[in-house]
Amino acid sequence: MRAACYYGPRNIKIEDMEIPEINDDEVLIETYTIGICPTDIRYYLGLKGESTYDNEKFTTGKDTYGLSGHEAVGKIVKIGKNVKKFKIGDFVVHETFTYCGECEFCKEGKINLCPNKKDIARGYSEYFKVPYKFLHLLPEDIDIDDAAFAEPLAVVLHAVKKVKNNSKDVAVIGAGPMGILISFALKLNGIDPAILEINENRRKFANELGFKNTINPEEEDFKNKIELITKYGFDGVISSIGGKGPLNLGLSITKPGGMFIIFGGTYPKDYIELDPNAIHYSEKIITGSSDHDYDDMEEAIEIIRKREIPLKKIVTKKFSLNELNNAFESVISGNEMKVQIKVK
Ligand SMILES: [Zn+2]
Ligand SMILES: [Zn+2]
Repeated sequence: MRAACYYGPRNIKIEDMEIPEINDDEVLIETYTIGICPTDIRYYLGLKGESTYDNEKFTTGKDTYGLSGHEAVGKIVKIGKNVKKFKIGDFVVHETFTYCGECEFCKEGKINLCPNKKDIARGYSEYFKVPYKFLHLLPEDIDIDDAAFAEPLAVVLHAVKKVKNNSKDVAVIGAGPMGILISFALKLNGIDPAILEINENRRKFANELGFKNTINPEEEDFKNKIELITKYGFDGVISSIGGKGPLNLGLSITKPGGMFIIFGGTYPKDYIELDPNAIHYSEKIITGSSDHDYDDMEEAIEIIRKREIPLKKIVTKKFSLNELNNAFESVISGNEMKVQIKVK
């Protein structure tokens, strides 16, 4: 089979290698479509050592086959002896990580917080294996390319559920693929979000997708524009972008008593100075959102099946597996929205 292997920052090679052997609890998946995630870009740029998956050694060569590709859709072509829930020919998506199922977080369904979680992504490869426990079956009437949004949409749903129920005004920072996906998920919940984005092309793109309240936070009078939407700030602000700038911006436009959600990761690490009184007197809540739980994934699959979000419009470019370096570079350029790899 062909598989992408990592040979250092910005150096991916597509190599020929043996199809992996599976054990009794695993299935072999033939990859069809995979979406490129910011995590993959961090991996590609050699920043993965900074990630939370430090327990996995950051190596190079054939050991890295499939890279960090976790937004993969594929067909089961082989199953282990103990696999009863799935059969050959089933189309599936999988969790990004394994979890223990036994710790206090797993028992409460908060699998994304499991301290024993391990990365299982391998999708930039013609075949990869996954323990069946971490698979989700796709319905027959789902669009296979759209289904590559199952994981990112699940992660988005997880964040959107944190926005308080009675929220009226919500803002999203960043109109990249994740910011747009968050905005659509809010829309499904009856909220038309304001989107703050410095890149004019991305603001236009958001407008074309039907989001009218796009604001450039680098414009001097941007706070006046926000005041036209909401006098005291937003009930909820979700930042799809990590880093100090978006955090300071997000807190400054969160309503007293409102919630600011850090959705995007920050690489390399960064720190902010925070005035404790600003939080004390305003009762603003700062929280994070990371990964997803089992139900988020099932809900994402159902939204995709029902075509409730125009996902094909968010995909601006598709590449083959052989063109993976170019595909990653196109994401880094910032000129594309979601980029997908068609493996089969
Ligand atoms: Zn992802
Ligand atoms: Zn656990």
